[in-house]
Amino acid sequence: MIYGNIFDIKEMAVHDGPGIRTTVFLKGCPLRCVWCHNPEGLSSKPQLMYKENKCLHCDLCKQKCEHEECKPFGRCLHICPENCLTVTGREIDDKTLTRELIKSADIMGNSFGGFTFSGGEPLMQSEFLIKMLDNLKNYNLCIETCGYTDGEIFKSVIDKLQFVIMDIKIADSKLHKEYTGVSNEKILKNFEILKNSGKPYTIRTPLIPNITDTEDNLIKIKEIIGNSNWEQLPYNAAAGAKYKMLGMKYELKDRI
Ligand code: SF4
Ligand code: SF4
Repeated sequence: MIYGNIFDIKEMAVHDGPGIRTTVFLKGCPLRCVWCHNPEGLSSKPQLMYKENKCLHCDLCKQKCEHEECKPFGRCLHICPENCLTVTGREIDDKTLTRELIKSADIMGNSFGGFTFSGGEPLMQSEFLIKMLDNLKNYNLCIETCGYTDGEIFKSVIDKLQFVIMDIKIADSKLHKEYTGVSNEKILKNFEILKNSGKPYTIRTPLIPNITDTEDNLIKIKEIIGNSNWEQLPYNAAAGAKYKMLGMKYELKDRI
């Protein structure tokens, strides 16, 4: 049995690979894109989310409680009259998650397209991911990845998939490091592995104003990916609220 950390399961997903799918979001990402719209997927650990705008400042949650699940956060998660406190992220073993997922596939019957593993970055929990892909090998399987991992791991994962969605965000390595925290050499090497794998795939580029959507960046990405299927995704401006709930800084706010 292998344990992983997930922060969401989305059923009836229609943009995460072929057909109608169930998407599992794994916690943890090696990148820190300044525009990330899933900040709850960045840390690999469970995190407290706090709705400050609804808080009555009654301090009930700060009183001592005996719930095991509350101890890591120093707050009682169950007493809030306004439901201001939730935890994002839970540990789950591969067998339990497989059972949960197959149930969702059975309900969908013939309409079910398959399973997608997203994040965060699903390759960051590669051992758990590979186990899950083996458990679900009779289904259509896909990942949404930033492609930042060692080539051997990347290859062993895509060998088990029927479809791959991979981001290429910034072509210039220095700018990539500035805006995501890492250079893009590993990512571009893994793109070559993907291109030569014979697996169907889509490349995605989020269009972030003045960062990824510049003419220069888009021309250079096109030069890298050639005639690959390419989706350019509009910028999602709604992520700011989640950063606030997590007590994290939304870096993009200061840059555009
Ligand atoms: S119990 Fe809820 S409303 Fe009261 S202080 Fe805690 S978070 Fe705020
Ligand atoms: S790769 Fe995706 S999940 Fe990771 S920081 Fe960037 S946008 Fe967020």
